[in-house]
Formats: sequence, structure tokens, C-alpha cells
Amino acid sequence: MQGKRGLVMGVANDHSIAWGVASALAKEGAELAFTYQGEALGKRVKPLAQSLGSSLVLPCDVENLNDVDAVFAAIAETWGSLDFLVHCIAYSDRNELRGRYADTSRENFQRTLLISAFSFTEAAKRAAALMPNGGSLLTLTFGGATRAMPNYNVMGIAKAALEASVRYLATDFGPVGIRVNAISAGPVRTLAGAGITDARAMFNYEKLHAPLRRAITIEDVGGAGLYLLSDLARCVTGEIHYVDAGYSIIAMPRPERLKL
Ligand code: NAD
Repeated sequence: MQGKRGLVMGVANDHSIAWGVASALAKEGAELAFTYQGEALGKRVKPLAQSLGSSLVLPCDVENLNDVDAVFAAIAETWGSLDFLVHCIAYSDRNELRGRYADTSRENFQRTLLISAFSFTEAAKRAAALMPNGGSLLTLTFGGATRAMPNYNVMGIAKAALEASVRYLATDFGPVGIRVNAISAGPVRTLAGAGITDARAMFNYEKLHAPLRRAITIEDVGGAGLYLLSDLARCVTGEIHYVDAGYSIIAMPRPERLKL
């Protein structure tokens, strides 16, 4: 990644998946810029960014389009171009990440879809404008996009939209050499992860029944992110790449493991 410059959106702290991806990229020589949501998180993100030698650390609440525009204007002014984008942003009202999906409110549906799905399209469009020589865009999704997961609810609908966006953006930007992919990570203990009711049960269930019988770390996601953002994945686009210890291939755990 030597000589490549990228923007990482979505670090909240050193447990964030975005931090796992950023660390893997920096280790291989990438130069990074970061965004943070609000000054409270900025206090955590700035020292983390500095520890990777990054000085371009910008505020960005994706609900505010002026923030998004300002970030890409600052990158255009400072770097002139961009090689990759990492988008690890999601939000929904935690009161609706429990119970029935059917009870989702209109307001939270709109907000969840805007922050967790459409913000990737808005960032991708602006990043692509700074990629005259091609580039790579990456976002983060979850298995609740394709299969019903208890309590994941409207976030599953947002992730389905995000995954479809990956395919449409890959089609839009492929002709100019920009690749667009997502990693579908198994459960990781993060701030966002903890917002889902019974997150611990989901985490333990997947760990117990995934073929590899292990939990996913941010380093595991970082390795896959590094691959997808690097030239090693130069012919990979529009892909949803599972980093879930194999959980997504299982239709049902072995009955004896469930004591049925
Ligand atoms: P996290 O809490 O560390 O990161 C979520 C980030 O989203 C935070 O940095 C937060 O500031 C940002 N964010 C939320 N609303 C925002 C807004 N309006 N503007 C700008 N930023 C905003 O949690 P994480 O688990 O690392 O989440 C990163 C991504 O990974 C999310 O898309 C999440 O859905 C996805 N993911 C998480 C898991 C998991 O189990 N933790 C599994 C698969 C996918």
C-alpha cells in the first residue's frame, strides 16, 4: 500500500472495525485520513490517527451533507487525489433493534437507511471524483442483510440496500477502474454491535456454530480489507466477502450441538 492514500470513515475507538482495517493498511505503508462523528468521539479518534502518522482528521456527521462535502473538499485540497475509501458507518435507534421489524417507525427507517446505506453512495460518488487513476471502495455489512436475524430488524433492511448499492456502484464505476466491495463480518464486540438487543447471544451462537468455531476480531476484518483495497484484488468488484468464520454457509448446526 506504499504510496497509496485513503480515507477511513467510522472509527469510534480502538475496538471499531474501521480501526482494524486502518491498522492493517497503515502497517503496509498506506497514508490515511480519518473522519469522526462529533467532538466527543474526535477526542478518541485524533490520538489514534496520530499513532498511525495521520494528521488529516476531519469531523463528519453523514446526516449533514455539508460535512461530507467539506471532507472531500479538504482531501482534494490537501492530497489532490485519493486511492481508496473505507466506510464503516451504521446507526439505528436502539429501541427498534429489538422486538419486531414490523414495528419500525417511518422516522427511524429513513434515518437508518440514510446513515447506514445511502451515506456510502454519497461518499463513494465524492471519492470517485478524486480517483482519476482508479481506486477501491469498501463498506461493511452483516449477514442480517440476507437472512432474518433476531432484533437486527431495520438494520437488516439497510444492509440489504447497502449490499445492492455495492453492486450498482461497482457497475457505475467499473469502467473508470474503481472497484467497490463489502465485507460481511461476523459479530464483533463494538459500540454499534452492543446496540443490538441480545448481541451477546448472537455473538456466542455464531462463535459456537460457525465452522471455524471462533469469534471474529477486527484484525481478521483488517486482513480482508487490506486485500480488497490492494491491487491483489484488482479483478474483484461488486463482491460481498464474508469474514464470519464460515457461519453464513450453515443451514443448521448439528442437532447434537443443539441438544434436540
Ligand atoms: P463502531 O460503533 O465502532 O462504528 C460505527 C461508526 O459509525 C462509529 O464510528 C460512529 O461514529 C459511526 N456513525 C454512526 N452514525 C454516524 C453519522 N451520522 N455520521 C458519521 N458517522 C456515524 O461499530 P462497528 O461495529 O465497528 O461498526 C462499523 C461497521 O461495521 C458498521 O457498518 C456496522 O454495521 C458494521 N458491522 C459490524 C458488525 C459487528 O458485529 N460489530 C458486524 C458486521 C458489520
